[in-house]
Amino acid sequence: MEREKLAFVNPATGVQFGEVEMTTPQEVHQAVSDMRAAFPKWSQKSVKERIRILQKFQQVLIDEREEISSVLNQDCGKSRQDGLIELFVSVDMLAQYRWNAARWLKPKRVSSGLYLFKRCYVEYRPHGVVGIISPWNYPLTLSLPPMLAALLAGNTVVLKPSEVTAATGVLVEKLFTKVPELAPFVRVVHGDGKVGAALVSARPDYVFMTGSTATGKKIMQSAAENLTPVALELGGKDAMIVLEDASLEAAARWGAWGAFFNTGQTCMSVERVYVVESKYDEFVRLAVQQADELKSGYSTDLNSPFFMGPITDPRQVKVIEDHLQDALAKGARILTGKKEQGMFYTPIVLVDVNHSMKVMREETFGPLMPIMKVRDEEEALRCANDSAYGLGASVWSSDMHHAKQVADRVEAASVIINDSIAQFGVPMLPFGGIKNSGFGRTHGEEGLIQFTRPYSYAVGGAPISWDIATILRVPGNYELATAIMGIVYGTTLKQKWETFSQFFKKKKRTAGTITTEPVTMQK
Ligand code: NAD
Repeated sequence: MEREKLAFVNPATGVQFGEVEMTTPQEVHQAVSDMRAAFPKWSQKSVKERIRILQKFQQVLIDEREEISSVLNQDCGKSRQDGLIELFVSVDMLAQYRWNAARWLKPKRVSSGLYLFKRCYVEYRPHGVVGIISPWNYPLTLSLPPMLAALLAGNTVVLKPSEVTAATGVLVEKLFTKVPELAPFVRVVHGDGKVGAALVSARPDYVFMTGSTATGKKIMQSAAENLTPVALELGGKDAMIVLEDASLEAAARWGAWGAFFNTGQTCMSVERVYVVESKYDEFVRLAVQQADELKSGYSTDLNSPFFMGPITDPRQVKVIEDHLQDALAKGARILTGKKEQGMFYTPIVLVDVNHSMKVMREETFGPLMPIMKVRDEEEALRCANDSAYGLGASVWSSDMHHAKQVADRVEAASVIINDSIAQFGVPMLPFGGIKNSGFGRTHGEEGLIQFTRPYSYAVGGAPISWDIATILRVPGNYELATAIMGIVYGTTLKQKWETFSQFFKKKKRTAGTITTEPVTMQK
């Protein structure tokens, strides 16, 4: 029987530029068991050794930059520079993780509490085989960082890249083969949701998934069968709040950038804008001006004149059109932008929008910037928080203190002040969501530690009779234990004294041993 294949189709031109055979469910299971067999060899290497090997991979990434940006250009339709940005973010993350991993993964000494004669510490050990499932919008940046973090932590990895950008999946596979010391500990399985589902059911020890909320829920359900822990990086509907004292030029420029970068196909795109009444007209004028300056088109040149490429996934065009038609039917107006030929758009700015429209409630994931007038900052916050999602948000104001106060009230896991999207590019900042945007974090110390399990140790000789913890175990020490509790944990001097003096009074009263006959229970 002929094997199913995934075609590589350039979304800008519609031209097929390659294909890959889909991995069968049996092969997926085999890949997981191969990686389980390889796990001891990788996990037994010291962190220093793993860092050294991953440095070679960093070198490969930089050496292969031309091919990487070229494949991303064909696979997603994004410009070569936007492809390079994906690589840049991944290299930056790897470099910072290499510098910090040894410190983050070091055993941590903790207080031994009552066990005065024990040394207590936590060791961070890898899970085993980590399954990573990635989406198509940043197929490199959303595959490599979790893979590299999982490897640094000592896991072996099976990646299931998106079927929409399968050429990048093949590229990632090839990049790992360029470091022979690393290649045996990584597998890439190719295919659609069925292959992803097979990976989850193959019982990896941890699943890290980036994608839509709907898929995240399915993965969590299936992972629950085996109690496999999961981290889910899901969709967003990020709000941009423009306050009275914001620099409107900067807000319009970088807000439009955040709405239209990668043709709006960013989980933390500016998906809705709330502008206070007094600044609304001017902001809208500037946003339209900015949007009109952002050209869309496709070029294979290193320096493309185009800011926006096509929509990458044909299925996404339907969602964008549905949101647009729904908004227009409910009274929204387009001030600029439209659908062009193929899967291209020019940036669309929408006004007269409200929360009855899908464009303000559901993830559009396309080049739409709906702007809503709000009475004041309270209304802006109410609207921003009226969302099922909680990934990112931005607040715009020239008063940092005030902006931070507003940011604190936004229900989103990461908030940036006076910029958009850029917090994702800071590798030391953990990134992830709340609400329907998922849980688990990528980047930062948390992004590495999630790929480990804490193991606890209490080490020392056999219990000593006058160790507090031993006193508690020995029958007949009720009063003494009460006195110790009072003295150590009494919250006032009075309480400490009371428990202490009570102990001596009781001691006097109970002087002389009273033994009781064993109690026989009456039937
Ligand atoms: P998707 O959910 O359709 O697919 C994501 C991955 O899951 C793909 O590899 C897909 O093949 C796989 N998959 C599909 N069904 C599966 C199943 N039943 N079991 C296992 N795997 C399965 O998402 P997408 O369209 O590729 O990506 C866009 C979405 O990703 C958007 O919602 C976007 O917001 C989100 N996203 C989130 C982040 C973040 O960090 N929070 C980043 C980028 C994208």
